[in-house]
Amino acid sequence: MAMEPVLHFIGGQPRASADGKTFEKRSPLDGTLLYRVAEAGRADVDAAVAAARAAQPVWGRLTSAQRAELLARVAEGIDRRIDELVAAETADTGKPDSLARQMDIPRSAANFRNAVQMFANVPGEVFQTPTPDRTGAINYSVRSPVGVVGVISPWNVPLLLMSSHVAPALACGNAVVVKPSEETPRTAALLGEIMNEAGVPPGVYNVVNGHGPDAAGEFLTRHPGIHAIAFTGETGTGAAIMRAAAKGARPVSLELGGKSPAIVFADCDFDAAVATTLRSAFLNCGQICLGTERIYVERPLFERFVQAMKDGAERLRPGRPEDPDTSLGPLISRGHREKVLSYYARARSEGATVVCGGGIPDMPDSLAGGNWIAPTIWTGLPESSAVIKEEIFGPCCHIAPFDTEEEAVALANDTDYGLCAAVWTTHLARAHRVAGALNVGVAWVNSWLLRDIRTPFGGAGESGLGRHGGVHSLALFTELKNVCIKL
Ligand code: NAD
Repeated sequence: MAMEPVLHFIGGQPRASADGKTFEKRSPLDGTLLYRVAEAGRADVDAAVAAARAAQPVWGRLTSAQRAELLARVAEGIDRRIDELVAAETADTGKPDSLARQMDIPRSAANFRNAVQMFANVPGEVFQTPTPDRTGAINYSVRSPVGVVGVISPWNVPLLLMSSHVAPALACGNAVVVKPSEETPRTAALLGEIMNEAGVPPGVYNVVNGHGPDAAGEFLTRHPGIHAIAFTGETGTGAAIMRAAAKGARPVSLELGGKSPAIVFADCDFDAAVATTLRSAFLNCGQICLGTERIYVERPLFERFVQAMKDGAERLRPGRPEDPDTSLGPLISRGHREKVLSYYARARSEGATVVCGGGIPDMPDSLAGGNWIAPTIWTGLPESSAVIKEEIFGPCCHIAPFDTEEEAVALANDTDYGLCAAVWTTHLARAHRVAGALNVGVAWVNSWLLRDIRTPFGGAGESGLGRHGGVHSLALFTELKNVCIKL
């Protein structure tokens, strides 16, 4: 039976759209209708921005300690309601319960705890400036909130990615209007309830639901009442958002797509390299922006590595989120599966060797309507292939051999993207050298997705603009002012 509709959250209240419009959300597991979602029109976005603008001055004038206390309560609320949040996230995305419980939800709470601590001890700058009359001047810098921040989020890791912007934005004294992905609106709505329970004033956190172009997403990013935009999603959408932000010269941060490589040297810890590369290619059914879609393996290790990856991929078990044996969920939507399958077909037509997978797995009748797809490994494609150049965002990777370190670095860097890379070696100097030579925002050595949220995060090239995490979030969420005092 379909559930209650998911509503907007405006001024501390769940709200239907002014014109009553809704759209369907279907289960990625079996295609059944889960619930309907309020589709925001311009009037709803106006109302959310107005609520945020009314609340921000009061929120911005609280001491940072007062805001910290309230946001710490939000983190506690997330911890307390973890079962509900896991259920919402797994129903919307189809991802295994264990993944949402270990990663998505606890790390969302950590985003709020971290933002609170992060900004408590950030020093400002002070310069003593000589002047011709010898009395001198003192310059110092102060930060103030930017105002109202628009946060646009994707569907792959919904609450975690959304809160990675909302938490620091609120900690800095801003109000937010969030537009979650149309595929995954439920945890953003639940976070509204948690904000109310924590005592965050109404209007500080608002949510509007709906689609992107010529809909809620665009209405929000083009809204003159929004002072800054934090976007996570596809590179093409990022360009549209940047154009929208140009009006009014509003700052944006863009966290975009990737085509991230792993480089595996023959001197690596083989078992660790295989285990983690399997995760990096197939975790969340390959729907992770940091996922590995290109793997370069030093030739002496190549055959053994491909075989071990095949064995690991074939051990993955698709199934229902709550089943403890499940290690692979479905793709988010029918449309996305068609896109991923088009790359599977293209790999075959371009002469790839299909090491494993390549199609749709057999599923029991009860799940046949879901967006299931087989984890897939290819070898033998030319580097010019679209399968190697374009982000697929599915459970698939291509593995190619290399002979020298220089060649491996050149192959890894031969992309318009630059989100992250993983390097596998036990050679200390080589680890530093290769990490330094890669054009990426994050270079992992002997690890992947090991993220300390105090560190800078973002992409090089077409993978993004700006960095967030730690004190780096201050760049987008605060206005930095210099005060110059002549003595
Ligand atoms: P998407 O770009 O299709 O959508 C992201 C969000 O933008 C959604 O809320 C959507 O409704 C909205 N949107 C779409 N068009 C818009 C427009 N013209 N104006 C305003 N809003 C608009 O991305 P997706 O399919 O939801 O997510 C997958 C993509 O996100 C992949 O490319 C992935 O690599 C990327 N991603 C990047 C990161 C990162 O940190 N770099 C993290 C997760 C996902």
